[in-house]
Amino acid sequence: MNNRIVILGAAESGVGAAVLAKKQGFDTFVSDGGTIKPRYKEMLDARGISYEEGGHTEALILSAGEVIKSPGIPDTAPMVVKVKAAGIPIISEIEFAGRYTDSKMICITGSNGKTTTTSLIYHIFCRAGYDVGLAGNIGRSLALQVAEEPHAYYVIELSSFQLDNMYDFRANVAVLLNITPDHLDRYDGKMQNYTDAKMRIIQNQTKDDAFVYWNEDPIIAAELKKYHIESRLCPFSIIKKEGMIGYIADGEYVIERPTPFNMEQEALALRGKHNMYNSLAAGIAADLSGISNDAIREGLSTFEGVEHRLEHVCRVRGVEYVNDSKATNVDACWYALESMTTPTVLILGGLDKGNDYEAIRDLVVEKCRALVFLGVDNSKLHAFFDPLGLPTVETHSMRECMDACYRLAQPGDTVLLSPCCASFDLFRNMEDRGEQFKAIARSL
Ligand code: ADP
Repeated sequence: MNNRIVILGAAESGVGAAVLAKKQGFDTFVSDGGTIKPRYKEMLDARGISYEEGGHTEALILSAGEVIKSPGIPDTAPMVVKVKAAGIPIISEIEFAGRYTDSKMICITGSNGKTTTTSLIYHIFCRAGYDVGLAGNIGRSLALQVAEEPHAYYVIELSSFQLDNMYDFRANVAVLLNITPDHLDRYDGKMQNYTDAKMRIIQNQTKDDAFVYWNEDPIIAAELKKYHIESRLCPFSIIKKEGMIGYIADGEYVIERPTPFNMEQEALALRGKHNMYNSLAAGIAADLSGISNDAIREGLSTFEGVEHRLEHVCRVRGVEYVNDSKATNVDACWYALESMTTPTVLILGGLDKGNDYEAIRDLVVEKCRALVFLGVDNSKLHAFFDPLGLPTVETHSMRECMDACYRLAQPGDTVLLSPCCASFDLFRNMEDRGEQFKAIARSL
């Protein structure tokens, strides 16, 4: 392989990869089809790394021995198609960084709950005083930390897009929370392709590693039959069952192995059924990493949650406002509704990634007082939900949406933004959607 590494995409992961590649002595070049943010340009300039923006120069890219692709760039992007046609290997930033460190890797994937669980594990490690870095979809790029700020442990959130371009990387502790349909637009509409990407979390694991997974997930269960898994299997469930490493029983949160641990379920900081899974996964990962019971207990009971995930915003005239803007698929919304204990005015809509709303039909009927649709095109929502007989309102901005919620909600109700859809039709991103929701709710 020649000594040239080209990085496609100059944001957190790409710039981090470039810094590490340069440090390792590669002829390093960064190419971004859009504009590069000033702080990333400064980082590249300070280290003498050459780059281009606003387009890709083929000759400078197709001369690479290897290409590191940002997870945000789809395989169908013209430049990626050309790189593939030229037979140049494409890897992810995490794969690249993994080559230059022997630190312990705790890696988390799943369709929902990644950020919450990753942040919770990181919080427990910090509480325990471990030398730990937070990386992947959140925190700083892994490659940058490996290059300039190495840690003994890394807690890494991995999306299916990162896993797509990982080959030799090995997770010491792999956590797979669940697999439900998501991002099918990037997987030719095929669930199996997306599932295969998620299952890459266990590739290269050895008998010294551990695989933590949710026992009740039907897709994971079916997949496990196809693999010969070397690592230690650590299933968890919210029901006590034979073989479970962690479970909830009689109001107790229990981890059986390697170090027995228990605490009252009531003392867990995170609420809702989905967060029991996340708390079990996090506790087991911490236990497997040798963290003391005291630190695990303290971490699980002091975690403050992550913004835009079932975040309680305020109470206005007896109505609770909850921001779950990060619920960009149907499964996440299912768990949000499941955790509702009051009549709910639910805000749905945005860019639909191929949703089937059947999964939430019963919960909507059971828990919702009204539905407010918020998107450029709400026709699919009307077609599915209008026949259920609940009041529905069509809106096209957060202001309009919140006015409708204010009119519809009665004291004691909850207004829940858990939209099942991506945000890019009306907002910059899901954070922008959540911020607007919170700002208006607080000003009501
Ligand atoms: P991710 O990083 O995988 O998108 P987040 O932790 O950001 O996951 O949560 C995304 C959404 O999914 C939120 O709406 C949250 O309430 C919901 N959620 C969190 N954990 C789970 C889980 N284990 N199962 C299903 N839904 C979950």
